[in-house]
Amino acid sequence: MTDDIRALERQLLGDVWTSNAAWDNLVHFCDVIGNRWAGSPSEHAGGEYLRGKLEEYGLSNVRLEPISFGAWERGAASLTMLGPTERSFSVIALPYCPAVDITAEMIDVGNGEQEDFDRLGDSVRGKIAITAAETNPVNARSEKLSHRTDKLRFAEDAGALALVYINQNPGKLHISGAIASPGGGPAAIAGLGTSWEDGSTLLRLAQRADGPVTLRIHTGGTFHENTSYNVVGELPGSRWPDEIVVTGGHYDGHDISQAAMDDGAGTMTTLEAARVLAALPEGSIGRTIRFVLFCGEEVGLFGSWGYTADHEDETAKTRFMLNLDGAGQGRGGTEALTLTGAPDLIPWFEGQAEDMAYRMPVSHRMGPHSDHYPWAIRGVPTATLGSKDDSPGLVGRGWGHTEADTVDKGTPRGLQMSAAVVARLLLRVANAEDFPGRRRSRDEVMTQLTDLGLDEPLRRADRLGLVGGKAE
Ligand SMILES: [Zn+2]
Repeated sequence: MTDDIRALERQLLGDVWTSNAAWDNLVHFCDVIGNRWAGSPSEHAGGEYLRGKLEEYGLSNVRLEPISFGAWERGAASLTMLGPTERSFSVIALPYCPAVDITAEMIDVGNGEQEDFDRLGDSVRGKIAITAAETNPVNARSEKLSHRTDKLRFAEDAGALALVYINQNPGKLHISGAIASPGGGPAAIAGLGTSWEDGSTLLRLAQRADGPVTLRIHTGGTFHENTSYNVVGELPGSRWPDEIVVTGGHYDGHDISQAAMDDGAGTMTTLEAARVLAALPEGSIGRTIRFVLFCGEEVGLFGSWGYTADHEDETAKTRFMLNLDGAGQGRGGTEALTLTGAPDLIPWFEGQAEDMAYRMPVSHRMGPHSDHYPWAIRGVPTATLGSKDDSPGLVGRGWGHTEADTVDKGTPRGLQMSAAVVARLLLRVANAEDFPGRRRSRDEVMTQLTDLGLDEPLRRADRLGLVGGKAE
């Protein structure tokens, strides 16, 4: 990197490490504004707060962009074992669970992977299935583990009436996660979340029973059309203003938590990077950096699907998208970059990490479950920067998507570290003469998707037509 970039980075790093802004913002966001559930007054208040901050920091074209979507509001939920033993368990409906009243026999489907449903065959039909929520790989050679929405799809295809997910981490924490149909409609079958302790008791009682176990599930929950807002601001490029680098995390959260680490921390990483980059001298940033704080990610990536559709004509000008869902967690020092759809960029980012004297692992994985994905399927190179939270030994998301995702899990240093790395990476991508990111063709993307079976969910959501995006 040039001496100019090094001088700018000294300013960025000095600004990040001498400020408590990111931490103060996060605490306010979580304790005062609340969970930012998609479409709620709390989410709208969060959007207004972020807009105010982007304006205060001096970004250009700061605005809220409305997104219409199908919203869900939580109702009561219960799970009762009717026989042979009578017992109640503490459960929550997973967001977008339809309102149901079902009495049926239970079946344990283990980890709820496709192999489990294949093994059990027709015995799943007409039953309430019980599965482990997120699991860890059984061994280093394990296949990839399925997302809860995949497990729900397997259960639906096998004829189950409902699927109950057991959190694999102890602590009496219910596991959440949306199971919406495409567009925000009710899930095809009911889905509930329970704690490790209640779920384990349920399985033990079922094992003890000498014969069929009957369960009753009762859920409320209501659906209505709603509007959420992406928060957008930018730093116009001085040399190539038409070329855009997009970055941001989602500011909405799950209703049962403060959504502090997922993704309050990524939101504040975005905001802090914006603050320090905006403070650089005029003409420091070559390509336009567009900051987008997404609404509605947790309920089906509505913010990013909506944004990319509304900005379809900018797809060809977008050089790179850096997603910050998962950034800013923990104590700092574990930041890692995962490219999506663009493994050819690994050497360039490894080179930047080395040049920054920062040990940052760079890998590639075609993950569909966050806001980079609508860009990735359009062939735009994307990556996610994330850091480990402070829950070593926990399975899957750890405290994420449970009541325990609260602001006490974060640290000022974790936010500073991520913001420092993100600001430097953005500056480098925006200014590099030799940035090797390239748009992939529709055929290339389709091959990447079909290799992983990701074409099927896109087909069900009627989104295959978006693959490859609009041509240059
Ligand atoms: Zn998230």
